[in-house]
Amino acid sequence: MNFVDIILKKKAGQELTREEIRMFAMGAANGSVPDYQLSALLMAICFQGMTARETTDLTMEMMGSGEVCDLSGIGAVCVDKHSTGGVGDTTTLVLVPLAAACGLHVAKMSGRGLGHTGGTLDKIESIPGCSVNLSEEAFVRQVRRIGCAVIGQTQDLCPADKALYALRDVTGTVGCVPLIASSIVSKKLASGAGAIVLDVKTGSGALMHTLQESIDLAKAMVDIGTHAGKPIEALVTGMNQPLGTHVGNALEVKEAIDILSGRVQGDLLTVSLELGARMLLAGKQADSVEEGRQKMEEALASGAGLKRLAMMIEAQGGNPEVCQNTGLLPQAPLQIPVLAEKSGYVNAMDTTKIGYICQDLGAGRKQKTDVIDPAVGLVMKCRLGEYVTKGDPLCILHVRNETQAEAAAPALQGAITIGEQKEPVPPLIYARVSANETILA
Ligand code: URA
Ligand code: CA
Repeated sequence: MNFVDIILKKKAGQELTREEIRMFAMGAANGSVPDYQLSALLMAICFQGMTARETTDLTMEMMGSGEVCDLSGIGAVCVDKHSTGGVGDTTTLVLVPLAAACGLHVAKMSGRGLGHTGGTLDKIESIPGCSVNLSEEAFVRQVRRIGCAVIGQTQDLCPADKALYALRDVTGTVGCVPLIASSIVSKKLASGAGAIVLDVKTGSGALMHTLQESIDLAKAMVDIGTHAGKPIEALVTGMNQPLGTHVGNALEVKEAIDILSGRVQGDLLTVSLELGARMLLAGKQADSVEEGRQKMEEALASGAGLKRLAMMIEAQGGNPEVCQNTGLLPQAPLQIPVLAEKSGYVNAMDTTKIGYICQDLGAGRKQKTDVIDPAVGLVMKCRLGEYVTKGDPLCILHVRNETQAEAAAPALQGAITIGEQKEPVPPLIYARVSANETILA
């Protein structure tokens, strides 16, 4: 098989065979196809798309390009949750301990921050001593013992995706439904998930900005999972403003602890309960979504979720005292408010820009080798639809020095649109996509 013929075939809009797709995935994983040919095919896929069959084949070939994690030692169905990425979006740290406290087994492999979005691994590592590098054996043992673990991907998971993702990042081929869907679902399948709940973000801080694109992505992923024989469903949720109020690694851990302590409510909790309820249903710990939600709420009210988070932190080498005293988390030396320059309604936020402002402060990486500052970030003081008066704080910057704040403040003011007339506030939950149906909320 000549790889040029595969590129020409896709360029002409034809459907690739399983064998041709295997050559693509294996060629990426073992380096036998050079980057320029892989890149050409990626771009052809962006323009011509893939059928559902091709997307499923690509997913299975990427999954099979490396090791597949065996979670059978846990002795129960493991339910995974995956978000397509957002800002102030720390649902994992809220829902994983709550779901585990309800009897679910959650063996989760998470990612690092990507672009403007935060990453669960970076957040967990901001907890003093806490590690995300567990062997597969230790991972399985921990989930058996306390019901949950959140770690990084093991080295040999989906090498084809590692290679293709790195190329996509630098060839303008990230935003393509079949490529995103196969990238995400291949990793979920390789990490051993028995059932999957997806959180597909939509809006100004999401990978997909329009609702239709987000629904298409959700459908593509649900179709692949269904073909692979896994129970899978997706919620399409709003990312038109940071989900929680805190953005930045230790700051987001603090917010998760505040929520699990019952001190704080809001959109982050609402979405976490909704996703968690569906995980309990998928893992047969609840007979309906309503029962799942009720169980999650009980685990919150009793403090069982917070206790489970402390157990998970301790099991992964961290200091569980942070759950009682968030002052033990890393803290930035300066807290500087950014003030509203005029009065009016908060009508829109450029959430991607807010994510990049935090990355600039040091909460994310611009280059792979950058070291994250766990303490920096910001705490939002306004939400969409609220009225602010000139001089009110829009947010509080948590920074190392005043120079950082001087750069961030005007950028933040520019990312928030204030108007005289109040615009409608976009919904938090837009749609639910399952194997059989798409229901708009
Ligand atoms: N996250 C992934 O893992 N892959 C993509 O393609 C996009 C987001
Ligand atoms: Ca694999």
